[in-house]
Amino acid sequence: MTHSGSSAFAEVNEKVHQAGEILGLKSGVIAALSSCEREVVISIPLRKGNDVEVLTGYRVQHSSARGPRKGGIRFHQDVDLDEVRALASLMTWKTALIDVPFGGAKGGVAVDASLLTLIEKEEIIRRWTRSLVHVLGHHRDIPAPDMGTDSQTMAWLMDEFHRLEGFQPACVTGKPVELFGAPGREEATGRGVAQIAAATLEKNNVKVKGATVAIQGFGNVGRYAALVCQELGMKVIAISDVSGGVVDKKGIDITSIFMHKTLESVQAEERIGASEVLEINCDVLIPAALGAVINETNCARINADFIIEGANQPITIAADRELRTQGVVIVPDILANSGGVMGSYFEWTQNIQEFSWPIDKFRRELDTRMEKAFGNVHKVSKKYSVDLRTAAFIVSVERVARAFELRGSLV
Ligand code: NAD
Repeated sequence: MTHSGSSAFAEVNEKVHQAGEILGLKSGVIAALSSCEREVVISIPLRKGNDVEVLTGYRVQHSSARGPRKGGIRFHQDVDLDEVRALASLMTWKTALIDVPFGGAKGGVAVDASLLTLIEKEEIIRRWTRSLVHVLGHHRDIPAPDMGTDSQTMAWLMDEFHRLEGFQPACVTGKPVELFGAPGREEATGRGVAQIAAATLEKNNVKVKGATVAIQGFGNVGRYAALVCQELGMKVIAISDVSGGVVDKKGIDITSIFMHKTLESVQAEERIGASEVLEINCDVLIPAALGAVINETNCARINADFIIEGANQPITIAADRELRTQGVVIVPDILANSGGVMGSYFEWTQNIQEFSWPIDKFRRELDTRMEKAFGNVHKVSKKYSVDLRTAAFIVSVERVARAFELRGSLV
């Protein structure tokens, strides 16, 4: 993934610096908030026939100023230390923005998840957990799923953690509902993305009913975002995954394709390439797959009025600037996809209290808290006359800096 020659972590830090300067923070505090507290790199030997392939795994803990570190684990061939740092940092800003008592972390393994057998996937996550158990735990650092990992992966992680440390289901979130997961968590990120899309249309006096939507990604985030957009009355006219995209200007019936593992087998009016979906003429574009997919090479061809960032860092800083001058309204990742970590917070608290919520309560709490974060970001964007991304960073950087200083970490 390319971030215009600069690194993904440098791009996040550019926003941290900008927010820090607007807030008048001391340069040392900005420097502390721009570095990671701990970075662990591990090797993961994986049996391959009679031989062994050695993979590289990561856990980066960016900040614990506001609570235990929290963040997903990504299995993807492009995972590297810079990307994991960037994603760990984004988790710090995301958890602060929605005001849950967590810090930020991220993990990953550089491997193409689509080529792994189930047994290999299990071996990898168990080894990852064994190597990192000393820095994990429900009050230290709590992993969750991300690209290439899912609730089954989290079940293996929890099982391995229990073998080593004893019963502690809150050590990981995004687990299967049958194994200490929370009903509502799986859909939470996509649901939040769709709710934010609807709220953005309303805020800009565009009718939600019939608004056209294009989505890149048909995994956990894209799939549920599509379903809830449809439930809210929007028309999903294009959706793509790694195998390519499907288009139907009358609106794709998401319910009928929801259970398909990939879009390859879906019958459609028109088929397009995996990244062409980004250039479809629509009201709302939701990138919900990889980072840096909207960059200087294609931003002039973006044909949407609103972009809701389902994925993390889908737009490079340069493209973000360019799109805003074209009048495109962009809702940043740390707000738009924060329903995932909000849902993880609900799962974590339920595990700790050994008490489970019905799904209606989960959804109600999620919607109310997302609405509150959305309203706050808009208020701050008006107050400082800045775009929504800058406003979101102002809110979160102020909260983390305050916690950092109150803890006395400077002395
Ligand atoms: P996933 O692995 O479930 O799905 C990823 C999807 O992207 C798949 O449909 C895959 O086919 C598609 N994809 C991969 N390469 C593509 C390409 N080149 N073109 C088009 N599509 C492509 O992952 P996910 O959990 O849905 O995560 C997607 C994004 O959302 C990531 O950026 C992740 O960090 C972010 N995110 C996820 C969560 C969560 O709770 N899962 C929370 C917040 C943010």
